[in-house]
Amino acid sequence: MKPLSDEPTRIEIDGHRLQCHHCSKEQFHRCRLRRQTASASGMRVDWHEAVAHAFICAHCGFLHEFLTH
Ligand SMILES: [Zn+2]
Repeated sequence: MKPLSDEPTRIEIDGHRLQCHHCSKEQFHRCRLRRQTASASGMRVDWHEAVAHAFICAHCGFLHEFLTH
């Protein structure tokens, strides 16, 4: 995992301000993660790599992750 950015910031996704699911605070560190995702096509499962945007609550450390499409 990459080092966290220094300054926590407010995040807005699709017009909704991100609020920590655990402590309801609104300050987050950003980072990017690589994820393996699977999609089934017929009988096969295809694995591909996706980049996820992760936001880590600056207060409690809860990780919120969004996969890009
Ligand atoms: Zn939190």
